Amino acid sequence: MARFRTSGRDHFERICSFCGKSAERRIISGPNDIFICDECIEMCRKMLMQEESEIAAQFSGDIPRPKEIKEYLDSFIIGQDDAKKALAVAVYNHYKRIANPSKGNDEVEIEKSNVLLIGPTGTGKTLLAKTLARKLKVPYAIVDATTLTEAGYVGEDVENILLKLIQSAGGNIAAAERGIVYIDEIDKIARKGENVSITRDVSGEGVQQALLKIIEGSVASVPPQGGRKHPNQEMIRIDTTNILFICGGAFVGLDKLISRRIDQHPLGFGHESDGSARKDIKEIFKHLHPDDLIKFGLIPEFIGRLPIAVCLDELKLEDLTRIITEPRNAIIKQYKASMAYDDVDLEFTPDAISAIASTAIKQKTGARGLRAIVERLMTDVMFDIPSITGRKRIIIDEEIVKRELTPKIERLTTAERKTA
Ligand code: ADP
Repeated sequence: MARFRTSGRDHFERICSFCGKSAERRIISGPNDIFICDECIEMCRKMLMQEESEIAAQFSGDIPRPKEIKEYLDSFIIGQDDAKKALAVAVYNHYKRIANPSKGNDEVEIEKSNVLLIGPTGTGKTLLAKTLARKLKVPYAIVDATTLTEAGYVGEDVENILLKLIQSAGGNIAAAERGIVYIDEIDKIARKGENVSITRDVSGEGVQQALLKIIEGSVASVPPQGGRKHPNQEMIRIDTTNILFICGGAFVGLDKLISRRIDQHPLGFGHESDGSARKDIKEIFKHLHPDDLIKFGLIPEFIGRLPIAVCLDELKLEDLTRIITEPRNAIIKQYKASMAYDDVDLEFTPDAISAIASTAIKQKTGARGLRAIVERLMTDVMFDIPSITGRKRIIIDEEIVKRELTPKIERLTTAERKTA
């Protein structure tokens, strides 16, 4: 493309690469013979400002209050009040920040408060993140830290986290720059003393350093197709200053580090070695200090960027019982709805529900194991039911759960159908 135009014998005139004007305009030159005039600069500035204010307006109109966010979370997640409150406040503050961007100058700048969720597996960390995503109007990405490695090792570059956010924003970088990222399994990037893998990242520290840069706010270059970065590849540039990060992990063994420091008897995640009395892990985590996380293997700068640390409660029998029946999409509600399509009235007796909950407790998988237990009970009947015509009933009682029996399929008589 011609960027110069002759206007005299040996005189070259610079023309704007954007509008083609020259002469009286003030022209600024860039690399590779690209020029831009003052008029185009002003137009770009206006466009960017409009984009900024459109996004700010989008978020300022109807900011969900912390109470409203928590109530929404309550309808899907049992317990975990502290985590819900911390997340609700963090998200509300996030909305406030992006609706009122700092104009620089001497103004007070509200810094973001990223959140660290600590809790045993299957207690609802990912569920909290997913449910929050449904409620929010900002782009949201849920990623897993286990696949991340330092550049140069086998695995994914840390910047790929941002690619997910950009995709969730439909490619709108300005919107992605105000999004929220949930990083699961953050404890897996802790520095490890032993058990070092040569294909991953020798110390685990490299990934933390790379992640730190993104979390604390920088302009990152993201390969548009994901994967590893290549030289000469075109990159998407994204500013991470206003992205809120929520990190979650089980941090197995952290309780022991805390107990040791406060000179208590070390415990496993709520389970005594003899399986009897269970001490509340939450009590131990009340004493959590950044030093414990450093001992666990996180670098101090990284911990400093996650100023809010909340511990999730271990799920007890009564919590699991409620999880089976109460949330908006509780497992039993899902199975009942699914069976209703096949003309089946599915019932679980209260004792059966308790038995399912106690089986999950024994498996030590938190609420994660509940679905598998119910699925096992239902496999045979789900196979047979579609071939049986008419209205049917299945009652699952304690004995069926405890002895893992195949539930009986009852055909309803016309009279029973009327009363059912
Ligand atoms: P984590 O991320 O803490 O390991 P998840 O959030 O993935 O656990 O939980 C696994 C599943 O267990 C969820 O999909 C959900 O069905 C159920 N679950 C876990 N905790 C809760 C809870 N507090 N309330 C309702 N359901 C829960």
